[in-house]
Amino acid sequence: MILLNIPPIFGTEIKYVNSAILDIKFNNNNKFIQLCENWFESKFNFKKVFLTTSCTSSLEMAALLINVQSGDEIIMSSYTFVSTANAFVLRGAVIVFVDIRPDTLNINENLIEQAITKKTKAIVAVHYAGVSCDMDLIMSVAIKYNLYVIEDAAQGMMSKYKNVYLGGIGHIGCFSFHKTKNYTSGGEGGAIVINDDLLIKRSYIIYEEGTNRSIVNSNQINNYMWYGVGSHYFMSNLQAAYLWAQLKASKYIYNYRMNLWNNYFSELFYLSENKKLELPNIPKYCKHNAHIFYLKMKNRNKCYSLVNWLMKYKIIVSFHYVPLHTSPAAKRFSRFVNSDVYTTVESERLIRIPIYYNLTIDDQNIIIKYLKKFFIK
Ligand SMILES: *Cc1c(COP(=O)(O)O)cnc(C)c1O
Repeated sequence: MILLNIPPIFGTEIKYVNSAILDIKFNNNNKFIQLCENWFESKFNFKKVFLTTSCTSSLEMAALLINVQSGDEIIMSSYTFVSTANAFVLRGAVIVFVDIRPDTLNINENLIEQAITKKTKAIVAVHYAGVSCDMDLIMSVAIKYNLYVIEDAAQGMMSKYKNVYLGGIGHIGCFSFHKTKNYTSGGEGGAIVINDDLLIKRSYIIYEEGTNRSIVNSNQINNYMWYGVGSHYFMSNLQAAYLWAQLKASKYIYNYRMNLWNNYFSELFYLSENKKLELPNIPKYCKHNAHIFYLKMKNRNKCYSLVNWLMKYKIIVSFHYVPLHTSPAAKRFSRFVNSDVYTTVESERLIRIPIYYNLTIDDQNIIIKYLKKFFIK
């Protein structure tokens, strides 16, 4: 059986997790959290990074940081994970969906301006498959209308837009270390990147349950106090130890995934030339991270026959998101601006195929073999 995903395991995780367990005795509870946060800040040139319990909690913290109020509008694409929307719905916001562009399945940057009203507070840029949105276009609209930009870079760690790492371009960036992503902190986890000085100032209190604990800790004052809204967003040091192993190995993991991605692309290229399928498109401004490899089929029925064909050879492939605006909760919390030209159509013909650090080249070759057979049978 070849699964769609296996959570990344590099092999060195146990060593760091052991060391974190030993540290508990000495009440040294944040060594690996510090190591990971510093790694992000120095390697990616981010101003401030906090490890969190998930990308969902990073997005929720982002909504608190930019002070979303009931009735505020948040612009995003509909082809995304539920949390991208729910983080803002939890604060009473209305989600305003804009169509995607067919080549990357990211928000169509040129349609954002038409969706802006007096109530618009922020634009969320989801970098689908770790392929960047055109951030210059998004940032210039945001500046013109004085809006916040939040990058949902859950899938985008290690990717770049014009030589800047994703997560570091908007006011806030959110990462996921869930087991389905390129790097994991043992199954669940995330990070929030804060790139705006004023937001950084407010972030310590929100991150530490609405208290001034972080300031108290550094100043040695005795009691910390309740200062405002906030929640328990911080990750455990044990998870950070697991993540640390993967950050230290991030180059190997990155290169291995890129190799798999490039193999798929070159082996299947002739099928795209013969119009049997479409392959992912990577715009010139983007350096991606091989998070997802997808095929676009002619229609939904073709997708089902591919899924069934590969199942016969014990290879699991899968659709991805059901667009949020077509979901049961959409009526209560959102509206779609203008027409859905691409979001539904493209989502219905996209199939993800296995790509992960622990996928062997032999198994990849089996997948490629049966894919080719399907298209030329
Ligand atoms: C995975 C993902 C999330 C949620 O991440 P969690 O860490 O599981 O909360 C949010 N947005 C996108 C685009 C994702 O792919």
